[in-house]
Amino acid sequence: MSDPVAKSETVLALPSNMMPSPVTFKGHTCSSLSVTYISRRKLVEVVDGLLGVMTPSSTCTKPYVHSGSDEVAADDTWMAKCPSALASFDQIIANAHGKKIALFLDYDGTLSPIVNDPEKAFMSPEMRTAVKNVTKFCPTAIVSGRSRDKVFEFVNLKELYYAGSHGLDILVSSTASQSKTNDDTEVKLFQPASEFLPMISEVNKSLVEATQSIKGANVENNKFCVSVHYRNVDKKDWKLVAELVDNVLKDFPRLKLTTGRKVLEVRPVIDWDKGKAVEFLLQSLRLDDPESVLPIYIGDDRTDEDAFKVLRERNCGYGILVSQVPKETEAFYSLTSPSEVMEFLNSLVRWKEEESPKVHDQE
Ligand SMILES: [Mg+2]
Repeated sequence: MSDPVAKSETVLALPSNMMPSPVTFKGHTCSSLSVTYISRRKLVEVVDGLLGVMTPSSTCTKPYVHSGSDEVAADDTWMAKCPSALASFDQIIANAHGKKIALFLDYDGTLSPIVNDPEKAFMSPEMRTAVKNVTKFCPTAIVSGRSRDKVFEFVNLKELYYAGSHGLDILVSSTASQSKTNDDTEVKLFQPASEFLPMISEVNKSLVEATQSIKGANVENNKFCVSVHYRNVDKKDWKLVAELVDNVLKDFPRLKLTTGRKVLEVRPVIDWDKGKAVEFLLQSLRLDDPESVLPIYIGDDRTDEDAFKVLRERNCGYGILVSQVPKETEAFYSLTSPSEVMEFLNSLVRWKEEESPKVHDQE
């Protein structure tokens, strides 16, 4: 936390507790909001931590034991800490009674299965229908590490709000609004790291060159961040991938490294994450009154923990972790797979249809 470069560049002040309402205008980057740069951890610490994360079981606090009664015991402990959102559905909707649910959905591993080729992480038509249906009742946003354009290609629903690049690229369009008043599309675009675009492009090029000799390594330019996927890399080369990425980042002191599911994420050193993106969306969509809105965030990855933490600290709403194994998490509930996510979304729709038959009849 002592990087002099980062400290000297705290040029944009943002109150940490909340942001002002964004200026609304068409087709331009919102300039009334700003972010704070944060210090960058020493690279060596990042890589050391990274190598721990790269070990498959390192995120599990209590892995399943695949034999005998221990499996049940481990399962019971996990379910007590982070119960199934399906089994707890009645409890969730009881707390949502009389409130609007604001829904936030990660994409990879939440709406789509994790696949070897990130370009082919398609969501099923059934999942798309479930997401589309739930937007009839709940304002819904996709919050993804992918570029906003890429995740929109995958989801392809205009009814949603989109936050790409881990919330560094947020588009709020009135086409997603449930209270459309005219045909004129109103756009709010928030890109707190826009000045980093040339740097991201440069580091993307360097990372591609650095990892081109590693079989299976895949560098994905997500506009405001770069993902280095090592899912298809031989395990003996994982450390080499981390070292190569670390080496590239030595020339980019204003970029930092975070980790996801078999992916290294290179991001700008600014105090902004999926949790901040959720706060931004709640406020800019005027959904930040806990008396009338219950936010629910569903995600499967470490980067989603920032959003789970925001909801937990606001004491308002629920994080739902998608995972087949127990993990250290700030989420309140869990689901085991994208298919359970779909079941949860369909349950929300059924509940809302029963609660609001008039809305359903108008469809
Ligand atoms: Mg994910």
